Amino acid sequence: MITSFTYVAKPTRVLFGPGRLAELGAELHRLGVRRALVLCTPEQAGMARALTDSLGPLASGLYPHATMHTPVPVTVDALRHAKALTADGLVALGGGSTIGLGKALALRTGLPHIAVPTTYAGSEMTPILGETEGGRKITQRNDEVLPQTVIYDVELTLSLPAALSATSGVNALAHAVEALYAQDGNPIVSLMAEEGAAALGRSLPRIVADPAGDRAARSDAFYGAWLCGACLGAVAMGLHHKICHVLGGTFDLPHAQTHTVMLPHVAAYNATLASSAMDRVARALGVEDAVSGLFDLNRRLAAPLALRDLGMPEHGIDTAADLVMHDQYANPRPPERDALAAMLRRAWAGEPPHRG
Ligand code: NAD
Repeated sequence: MITSFTYVAKPTRVLFGPGRLAELGAELHRLGVRRALVLCTPEQAGMARALTDSLGPLASGLYPHATMHTPVPVTVDALRHAKALTADGLVALGGGSTIGLGKALALRTGLPHIAVPTTYAGSEMTPILGETEGGRKITQRNDEVLPQTVIYDVELTLSLPAALSATSGVNALAHAVEALYAQDGNPIVSLMAEEGAAALGRSLPRIVADPAGDRAARSDAFYGAWLCGACLGAVAMGLHHKICHVLGGTFDLPHAQTHTVMLPHVAAYNATLASSAMDRVARALGVEDAVSGLFDLNRRLAAPLALRDLGMPEHGIDTAADLVMHDQYANPRPPERDALAAMLRRAWAGEPPHRG
C-alpha cells in the first residue's frame, strides 16, 4: 500500500550516453562559463589534460591535485588557483574524490560546475559534502554543492581497472540497499534503488571479465550508479553508511573497498527487520536471498572480503563497535553492541555474513 510521503527531485541536468563529453563546451556556454577550471586527481591528469586541450579557450587551466576525502588544505590551494586564473566555472572530471573537490569549491565560490564522473561512487547526484581537516571528517548536506550538469560518458569508464570497478559498483549498490529501508524512503526512490541495483548486479561481473571491452555492461553500470547516487542524495542512509564512515575515518580504510566488505554483513544484521527491502534486493540481483546474494556477488567480482586485508587492526573491532553505538541514526534494527562487534569480527576475518 502506498502511504503518505515526501519526494524532492534534485535539479540536476543529466546527459547520458557514449560520446556525450563532446557536449561539454555547449554545456559550459549554457551556464555562461567562459573560463572553466578543470579538476582531477594526479592519476587522471592525462585524461583531464586532453579534455582541457579540447576545450581550448573555454578552459582556464587544470588543477590535478584532488585527494580522497576532500582535505580542506587542498580546497584552499585550488581556490587560490581558481582566483589566479580568473576561472568562472568548474569541471570535475573523475570519481568521488574529484567531485568532492568540485563541490567544496562550488560551495565557497558559487561558481557553476559540471561533474563528469568516471567511477560509480554517485557523489555527483548528492547534495552531500564530506571534508577532512585536522584528522576529522565533517559532512554536510547543502543543495548549493550540486552540479548544474552531470555528463555520464561511458567511454571515460573503460580505463577504470576491474578491481576498482567492482568495489565502486558495490559502493553504489550499498546506496540502493539502504534506500530501500530508509526511514524517509518513498516509492519513487525505491523504484530507482531496485532498478539501479539490478543494472549493477547484472553488469559488474561482465565488467570484471572484460573491463575495457564490454561497453554495454559499462553503460548499464553507469546507469545503475546514477540511480543509486540519486537514492543516496534523496533519503537518509542507515547503519551500513554509518559503519563505513567510522571505519574509514578511524582506521583510514579505503572508501569503496570498505563499503564492499561491509554490505553483505549489514544486510544480514538488518535482514529480519527489513524483509521487504531484502526481497527487493534479491529480486534486483535475481537471487533467492539478498544476504547470500550480496556475498556471492563480492566473491564473483574477486572483491575484498575481509577488513583485515584493507589494513584494519584486530583491536579496532571493539573501538569501531563503540563508535557506531555513539551516534544516532535511523536503521531497521537498533544498534546492539555485542551483535555489532560480532558482525565486525566476521567482516574483519572475511567470514560469510550471519543473521545473528
Ligand atoms: P576516487 O575518486 O578516489 O578514485 C579512485 C582512484 O581511481 C583515483 O586514483 C582516481 O584517479 C582513479 N580513477 C577514477 N576514475 C578512473 C577511470 N575511469 N580510469 C582510471 N582511473 C580512475 O574514488 P571513488 O570511490 O569514486 O570516490 C571516493 C570518494 O568519494 C571518497 O572520498 C568518498 O567519501 C567520496 N564519496 C562521496 C559521496 C557523496 O555523496 N558526497 C558519495 C560517494 C563517495
